[in-house]
Amino acid sequence: MKLFEYEAKEIYKLHGIKVPKGVVIAKSDDIEKKIEESKLKFPLVVKSQVLVAGRGKSGGVKFAKDINEAVTVSNNLFNLEIKGLKPNFLLIEEAVEHDNEYFASITIDRAERCPVILVSKSGGMEIEEVSKKSPESIIKYHVDPILGMRDFEARNIGYKLGLSGKELASFTSFLKSLYNIFEMYDGDLVESNPFTIVNGEVIALDSRIIIDDNSVYKHKELVANKEMSGEETEWEIRAKQRGFAFVELDGNIGIIGNGAGLTMATMDLIYEFGGSPANFLDIGGGANSERVKEAVSLLLEYPKAKSIFINIFGGITRCDEVARGIEGALKSVGKIKPIFVRLSGTNEEEGKRILKELGISSYNDPIEAARSTVNSVKGGE
Ligand code: GDP
Ligand code: MN
Repeated sequence: MKLFEYEAKEIYKLHGIKVPKGVVIAKSDDIEKKIEESKLKFPLVVKSQVLVAGRGKSGGVKFAKDINEAVTVSNNLFNLEIKGLKPNFLLIEEAVEHDNEYFASITIDRAERCPVILVSKSGGMEIEEVSKKSPESIIKYHVDPILGMRDFEARNIGYKLGLSGKELASFTSFLKSLYNIFEMYDGDLVESNPFTIVNGEVIALDSRIIIDDNSVYKHKELVANKEMSGEETEWEIRAKQRGFAFVELDGNIGIIGNGAGLTMATMDLIYEFGGSPANFLDIGGGANSERVKEAVSLLLEYPKAKSIFINIFGGITRCDEVARGIEGALKSVGKIKPIFVRLSGTNEEEGKRILKELGISSYNDPIEAARSTVNSVKGGE
């Protein structure tokens, strides 16, 4: 789950990281009044709060030298779509005068199985270019997840950045704070690009935090406004509320699989026969009939799905449970769409018997099942 910049900055502040003084304004606010009450000093930076990176390059970060400009710029930003998203909030901050932009990021190095820190003197909006053209200017450091980030490690990284004295001390405490946030929030990513150093002090101009989705339940307080951020579609939110991994796609064939790998392979099969998936839906391992019922019900209601392809390889998931789930969904939703089921594994015979009674074709071979599904939507559009 991605946090908004203003949320990430709140967390930064709690951990002793300095950020520019600012105020968050909502669409419905009286912008002029809110800025005046905040007593921020001009010039200001007005920043669109959308959950995508690269806002600067898309015109989502603007400067304002006085209140009139701030109001105009704010109105413009509320209406500016960035990578398909419009903000519900803006973050307005005092523009920090600075002559350096650094980059710091912590993420997981899956191959090394530990957190990895990347820092560079050449931060800012061109960091992707920097990493391509002069990768040597990016310092990479692996952290032992058991020991955590120790003082001397943070100091050494700062030293490699060319810092000393007060700057080095401030950077050391900054990097340790970033690491603490990364640990405490089960980060997929904790990043500040850019941060700057002014009068020996680190200031985070930008902040990003992405929390591992598996740990979101620990941070429920942060979930609420994500659902209205526009990042997820209505159907993705519905599916998420029911606990499914679901991605909305542009095609017309509904897909259900058990396990992310099998579900992706199922999508590939559909493409192979010239079809196009309407979604990705992984019901996970060991799903019982109730879970299957919820998943199938969702796709029966999901208007993009004209036919449904359910690909289950029954190991811990029992085929009879799957069949009963499908039966339950058909009874409760009552909307009939062509359903094709590949069932294989535990209690397969019983599962197939139930499906047969429902008049649903079941297959052993996923290739055949995929072909039939694709044929069922051909000419129907
Ligand atoms: P991003 O493009 O989504 O990563 O948004 P950033 O928050 O990084 O903003 C883009 C650029 O705006 C940064 O690289 C900075 O150069 C500039 N910027 C952001 N905040 C400030 C600020 O407080 N003061 C000044 N002077 N520039 C800023
Ligand atoms: Mn940035």
